[in-house]
Amino acid sequence: MTATRLLLPARALQQPEWASLDELKDVLLSLEAKPPLVDATACADLTAELGRAARGEAFVLQAGECAERFADANPETVLAKADQLHRLADEFTDTSGLPTVRMGRIAGQYAKPRSNPTETLSDGTVLPVYRGDAVNAPEPTLAARTALPSRLLLAYRNAGNTLSTLLERDLGLAGRTAPQRTYAGHEALLLEYEQALVRPDADGGRYGSSGHFLWIGDRTRQPDHQHVQFAASVSNPVGVKIGPRASAEEVGTLVRMLGDRRRPGRLSLIVRMGRENIVPHLTSVLRALGDEAAGVAWICDPMHGNTRTNGAGQKSRAVDDVMAEIEGFVSALRAHGLRPAGLMLETAHRPVTECVDTAAELASPTPLPHYESACDPRLSPRQARQVVARTAALL
Ligand code: PEP
Ligand code: MN
Repeated sequence: MTATRLLLPARALQQPEWASLDELKDVLLSLEAKPPLVDATACADLTAELGRAARGEAFVLQAGECAERFADANPETVLAKADQLHRLADEFTDTSGLPTVRMGRIAGQYAKPRSNPTETLSDGTVLPVYRGDAVNAPEPTLAARTALPSRLLLAYRNAGNTLSTLLERDLGLAGRTAPQRTYAGHEALLLEYEQALVRPDADGGRYGSSGHFLWIGDRTRQPDHQHVQFAASVSNPVGVKIGPRASAEEVGTLVRMLGDRRRPGRLSLIVRMGRENIVPHLTSVLRALGDEAAGVAWICDPMHGNTRTNGAGQKSRAVDDVMAEIEGFVSALRAHGLRPAGLMLETAHRPVTECVDTAAELASPTPLPHYESACDPRLSPRQARQVVARTAALL
């Protein structure tokens, strides 16, 4: 007698409950027929740049929104964000002497993983949580929070418009100054959208044409789940967020599944452990990886491990916590003979007050006045300059 084994499909966490599956099917068919948003050669160029960063010959600065809004997909706003990114990168290069690879959290950062599927309003009403503009809208009404498949088409269109503005900017400047490209990255969270935009690349493989750099979040990086399988199936440079609960064994499995020794820069590990955990936990991960750690681009996300609720009940972060994590990240890598490859920040191009300068300010019961983020607290332009300048000085 032969045993029959039921092959269960891999799980995908953090997927929306769409209002209509029939409509979703139509939307995905229409996305499958659309032109790619980015081309495969630009993705391969970015892999090579990330490879240089992994060797310590360049540095990746990745900055932008936690949750990008569709309303920001206009030339004026996109140019303001690109100018901020390039100014920060120029300052980084001036101080550190390293070439800076410039990447936005932009042109597709429209989907958010959430800790809770619902949100309870102050009057007790329970609503589905906001999951990013590609899914629903942040306003606290049931209509706004309904997950509409048609939003995936808007995500495609707004990402396309944003990428066109970035490309025109880069080409326009190329005649006058040394050409500096703006790469686009986002979290590959909505698997149906990402899959619908997979296209053949020049080497007989397949790439995700939704953005140059695709990363998998800390909540969806389980090696036997669909997000990691998706990342393994595409040729783009990919990243995985590594939080304080990632075991050294899990990280080793991810490196073997997603890394490629012949293509340094293919895999970035984006470490976001928090200022308390960074040195002990990153050190134990690096010890367990041994030689395999050298094939990876190590990027520091000093934001997501340092999110706190302030005295007024708002999500905030303190610049001194952010800096402490960056310092721990650099020292743990150096102790293992490795080079920091990059920094990922959540930034606003307007002078918001969402993050504070010192952890002591988090105790204040007075609400932060200019809080505009649809999701996590972002560094103001001044705070971002400070963090980048201090990081450059460390290297
Ligand atoms: C993010 O980058 O906005 C995010 C949700 O990060 P993480 O997956 O690390 O929590
Ligand atoms: Mn975030």
